[in-house]
Amino acid sequence: KNIIVAIDGYSSCGKSTVAKALANQLHYVYVDSGAMYRAVTLYFLRNGIRLDDEQAVNEALKHIYIDFHKEQGSTRVLLNDEDVSEEIRQMPVSEQVSAVSALKAVRQAMVAQQQKMGERKNLVMDGRDIGTAVFPEAAVKIFMTADPKVRAERRYLELTNKGQNITLEEVFENIAHRDYQDTTRKESPLVRAEDAIILDNTEMNEAEQLNFVLAKVEK
Ligand code: C5P
Repeated sequence: KNIIVAIDGYSSCGKSTVAKALANQLHYVYVDSGAMYRAVTLYFLRNGIRLDDEQAVNEALKHIYIDFHKEQGSTRVLLNDEDVSEEIRQMPVSEQVSAVSALKAVRQAMVAQQQKMGERKNLVMDGRDIGTAVFPEAAVKIFMTADPKVRAERRYLELTNKGQNITLEEVFENIAHRDYQDTTRKESPLVRAEDAIILDNTEMNEAEQLNFVLAKVEK
């Protein structure tokens, strides 16, 4: 049976950084489930899909194919074969993604794809519901958190370094807004799985975080 490491937690806690490092170390496949919800959101925005139009949503989901492609050490996100890795990190998507991912039909489609990925390979997957809904039987579950101000500052630096024109306040608001929507939605809300280990990285560097999770996996 394949081994799954589930890494869940609040927005911009550095889940993907830890998950990538861990996957590298273990030679597992890393899957960014948030990127899948972001790609769906981008498709909806581009095609003017209204979230209250159930039929349009269901029809759109039939035309969305998301894939990951490894390229010189970095993973690219493909939406119907188009590389959307940069565009899904822009504010228009960040502002809508939590509303899109609250839809039952969207979650059903993504969870099915994610579970399929876990049938074939050992995975490290990060997201919001990986340990609770996607892989409740995951071998190791980590729940990440950090001081919201520290999270906003880290994400602000990351996005401005990549050339995005945003303010620290906008980033802080977006993180707070997504956390609120993710924890209060009806379909698989963001909550710590009972058997998930808490990792608060407010005062930890990346090496310390990797060692922390490695120790849990090797146990
Ligand atoms: O991980 P990331 O911050 O890129 O995820 C973007 C959004 O996608 C989250 O704020 C959440 O609304 C949604 N998401 C989700 N379930 C997951 C991963 C992400 O609902 N497993």
